[in-house]
Amino acid sequence: MTTTPKKKIDFIDLKAQQARIRKQLDKRISAVLDHGSYILGPEVQELENLLARYVCTKHCISCGNGTDALLMALMAYDVKPGDAIFAPSFTFVATAEVVALTGATPVFVDIDPKTYNIDPASLEKAIENFLRKKTGLRARGIIPVDLFGQPADYDAIMAVARRHNMFVLEDAAQGFGAVYKGKKTCVFGDIAATSFFPAKPLGCYGDGGAIFTNDDGVAEKLKSIRVHGQGTDKYDNIRIGINGRLDSLQAAVVLVKMEIFDEELISRNRIANRYSTLLGKSVVTPYIDPHSQSCWAQYSVLTEDRTSVLAKLKARSIPTAIYYPKPLHLQDAFVYLGYKKGDFPITERIAERIFSLPMHPYLDEETQDYIVGGIKEST
Ligand SMILES: *Cc1c(COP(=O)(O)O)cnc(C)c1O
Repeated sequence: MTTTPKKKIDFIDLKAQQARIRKQLDKRISAVLDHGSYILGPEVQELENLLARYVCTKHCISCGNGTDALLMALMAYDVKPGDAIFAPSFTFVATAEVVALTGATPVFVDIDPKTYNIDPASLEKAIENFLRKKTGLRARGIIPVDLFGQPADYDAIMAVARRHNMFVLEDAAQGFGAVYKGKKTCVFGDIAATSFFPAKPLGCYGDGGAIFTNDDGVAEKLKSIRVHGQGTDKYDNIRIGINGRLDSLQAAVVLVKMEIFDEELISRNRIANRYSTLLGKSVVTPYIDPHSQSCWAQYSVLTEDRTSVLAKLKARSIPTAIYYPKPLHLQDAFVYLGYKKGDFPITERIAERIFSLPMHPYLDEETQDYIVGGIKEST
């Protein structure tokens, strides 16, 4: 076992993917340069049609990024001050940030210790506690997250949501391409949002995102919100909206990547399974529910003494990342909500022990063996 890899290890290797699709990218990008319709051009419509068909929803409304996708979805459901929206504390900040941006109040929920997704039993308890407290706020919605690419437990979550007459917004920013009980993500709950940030499983070369719904009225509203709340034309404004449009160049990139996306999902699963087999019990490997397939946005493991393990991996030139070192209920940005350490013990325990390994469809076995060897020597 040497302490230097044969070649530089990328955490996510977007270059290998680009080399594979470069010709098609050049062609698609040239077409945009030729027609000159840079925003909401023909590629955007083509992508929306393709993605709606791919996940099996009636409508796909693309937008500028995954955060706007979440925000626009909340705006379409008229989320406003006085509303409470429940979300896991263990997620990327955008999930709860958009709630605060609408003036509504985020209410955090603990996670399942195996899947790291929102725990339906904790959700039910959080809603009941919230209702007992008589805050004057209205329990309006829930944002489950498909964390690391594994779908949340939608059957259990929807049962809770229906019982309390709440809507569900699926945060599938990391989950595009994953499967829950035979269905692709972005169809769960009442509305779903995803991201095409370059490092996501389906990424573009900049910012991009999309919203999915089966509701014609909501789809129309989203198209209006996306362009400053436009009515019959650009200078007729019937509601408050945002500039949430997607660039044609980014849509062109996603269209090319969609051609190889299913193959990449197979590779991601093969690589993830190989990691889990080779790592054995040296770390706690990911648990994927038997009724789910992950799209492996991240391959995340648990270890005690993370600081020392990560230092040893760094010395072997093995890149790692921590998603997420600080739960949202402990972030300064949310201090006004009044949470304290100890409020979500599972989230806090996982946040102290978790880290992610290099994960992308082009990770070759030799490099993976080197990474696994490094972990076994470091734990
Ligand atoms: C990446 C991400 C977002 C935000 O997507 P952007 O395109 O970066 O705005 C939202 N939620 C989760 C869980 C994410 O991982």
